[in-house]
Amino acid sequence: MATPQIITARIRGFLCVNAHPSGCAANVDRQIGIARAAGTRGGIRNALVIGGSTGYGLSSLVTTMFGHGARAMNVCLERPPHGDKPASAGWYNVAAAHRRAQQHQLSLESVNGDAYSNEIKADVIARLKRWSAPLDSVVYSLASPRRVDPDTGQAYTSVLKAVGAPFTSKSLNLGNDHVVSVEIQTASEDEIQSTVKVMGGEDWALWMRALLSEGLLAEDCRAVAYSYVGPELTYPIYRSGTIGKAKEHLEATARALDAELGAKVGGRALVSVAKALVTQASAAIPVVPLYISTLYKVMKEKGTHEGTIEQIVRLFRDHLQPGVTPTLDEESRIRIDDRELDPEVQAAVSRIWADVNSENVFSTTDVAGFKTEFRNLFGFDVPGVDYQQPVDVDVPMV
Ligand code: NAD
Repeated sequence: MATPQIITARIRGFLCVNAHPSGCAANVDRQIGIARAAGTRGGIRNALVIGGSTGYGLSSLVTTMFGHGARAMNVCLERPPHGDKPASAGWYNVAAAHRRAQQHQLSLESVNGDAYSNEIKADVIARLKRWSAPLDSVVYSLASPRRVDPDTGQAYTSVLKAVGAPFTSKSLNLGNDHVVSVEIQTASEDEIQSTVKVMGGEDWALWMRALLSEGLLAEDCRAVAYSYVGPELTYPIYRSGTIGKAKEHLEATARALDAELGAKVGGRALVSVAKALVTQASAAIPVVPLYISTLYKVMKEKGTHEGTIEQIVRLFRDHLQPGVTPTLDEESRIRIDDRELDPEVQAAVSRIWADVNSENVFSTTDVAGFKTEFRNLFGFDVPGVDYQQPVDVDVPMV
């Protein structure tokens, strides 16, 4: 046991380098409360969530387990505590989910390691084979800057750049809250291909085909991966940029996997387009934090704002739980970003965007909400947590 200590947030731009165990546990409890209130316990029996420790993946884990009563397997890559140094937020989130699972008589297993590797896939598959029934839900929610190809050993790094032509946009400097102008450079062909290697559908397909060939997918199994479209305002950095190319690949992979699962187990593999929200991954994208701050302002005022847990509860309720037919767009995608892309919302966002500057950013956008939510991700500023209370950082994940 490490000496209990008072932990304060150490934020460097879009990174927070520590986390608070009690704050992370309180976040997980809040999500569990929402999932339980909305859930239909008993619907999903066995779920695998790849990337289930933070963001959309954590909400997927909480929803399938605490909302639908699933036995769950989580795969993530989180930093353990080391001496007096706190673990990463995802570590504490998963630790809290395990404690609550036990209290609710739910079964959760976690594998902490590189989901892109053959070793972790083999470990997860060996564990799943010991389960009494196959998976009826598989969620793929990895967000990573790097992937080592398991067959060649070559490392690929994803980049957040424009494709075709550079572009200039307003952006928020997260260090001093100034609205600045950033120029986003054009990616080389190599950088585009690397980003597709990391964030495209190749690894998801490896997972799904391995699970299929081992007979681990139940009849009518539903698999989902998350994508983003967003408004024209962010197209150059997102949808038409390098990350957008990766998402196009992910979406094409979904269509191929959907046909395979349909033919082999009568199942589905779909992409769900989610809303822009503050997560560790999204905070790192230039332009996006200012867009999210503006979007939050408009959606909160309109009463249509949702966080990851509300988005995922809705996704499973309306599209993924057994017996429900998913509603798809013309490109076979589920759209839970409908409220973000509501034309009225986007018109209001554009009006604010045109005038936002360093002087008015706190009054015209919800940058304060963005910053609070960012701190919340790491367990800081979470309502109900006594931060004056020293805490032990040495919390086991399982
Ligand atoms: P996040 O950073 O909160 O979560 C990433 C997860 O991936 C974590 O559980 C992490 O442990 C895991 N992970 C990363 N590398 C790993 C590895 N090598 N092995 C095992 N686990 C690993 O990210 P997020 O924003 O929730 O993103 C999840 C997905 O949702 C991504 O596909 C993202 O593009 C998509 N999405 C996000 C948004 C948004 O606004 N945040 C919107 C739409 C879609």
